[in-house]
Amino acid sequence: MKYLPLGKTGVQVSQLGYGAASLGDEYGAIDPAEGERSVHCAIDRGINYFDVAPYYGATLAERRLGAALAGKRNQVILATKVGRYKDDRGAEIFDFSSAGIRQSLEESLQRLATDVIDVYQAHDIEFVPRQQILDEALPTLFQLKREGKIRFVGITGYPVHLLRDIVEQTHVDTVLSYSRYHLLDTSLDEVLGETLERRGIGLINASPLNMGLLTAKGPPEWHPAPVNVRVKARELARHCESRGIELSTIAMQFALSYSRAATTLVGMSRVRNVERNLSVLDEPMDETLLDELRQLAAPVANTCWQEGISDNHDPRSVPQNS
Ligand code: NAD
Repeated sequence: MKYLPLGKTGVQVSQLGYGAASLGDEYGAIDPAEGERSVHCAIDRGINYFDVAPYYGATLAERRLGAALAGKRNQVILATKVGRYKDDRGAEIFDFSSAGIRQSLEESLQRLATDVIDVYQAHDIEFVPRQQILDEALPTLFQLKREGKIRFVGITGYPVHLLRDIVEQTHVDTVLSYSRYHLLDTSLDEVLGETLERRGIGLINASPLNMGLLTAKGPPEWHPAPVNVRVKARELARHCESRGIELSTIAMQFALSYSRAATTLVGMSRVRNVERNLSVLDEPMDETLLDELRQLAAPVANTCWQEGISDNHDPRSVPQNS
């Protein structure tokens, strides 16, 4: 396992990071004991970056991760988020107000059984006007950093043009981009990569399997990718199968080879998936197969969906149901 600097934070993070969305049953109900074992296995095997949010499973993921980290908190860099929530019935709630942020932090600290969050991120900033992020949310996060309640300030989101715009106007420590650097889409690097490197901002690349799309099993029901992208992913899966390799293996290798990312976050609430993703680190990538997959993927390359309010959409995004 390689450990890489998270921008200018002074923190070294494992190249492979643990994404805890699936601990909140976001990809189907899990066995909680197995989820806990997956966290322990990841720590034992050198993974030190853990990402969660109150949104995942309507706080379930934070509660499960907090319990699993008992006695192990000081072995990990713990990242969580603020501003995006859902209620028990799954209805979405956004609250990036200063008071809302302070209350959410206290609740996250309690659920995670800790007194400091290492990386605290405004969660999916595309859902609110960017002025609220600039004028209220980020100033509150920087104040919490000065107060010592959080160590670093980050933003997360899908539209990479929006992330770049916010990065250029602020001094965030980290950016988490999801589903924008994988076999079908590399716009994270094309739009944002150089800016982040120049400014020394830690890049967290999440969803290297494009939220389950780049696996033999396929995506969850709620996956927002347009139909042509879904169909293409199935074609890639069949092509890999014909070569005796699972699509997820080469998809992980491709994402992990992205040198600008400090860590790559994958969901792994089963020990088997932790082991699988760790073993990928030691296997050389089949470059011929990669070229074939990239050629097959070319007609849909960098196709992205619309996420958040229309002012924040990426210029080339298409509606989700097309
Ligand atoms: P992902 O691309 O990591 O895919 C997860 C799915 O792939 C799960 O069903 C998992 O069981 C399966 N999987 C994992 N390893 C596998 C393997 N080797 N072979 C086959 N299947 C495998 O998507 P994700 O979980 O959404 O993203 C990873 C993490 O990134 C999240 O848990 C979360 O922490 C973070 N994230 C953050 C945001 C945000 O902040 N807006 C958005 C997306 C993801």
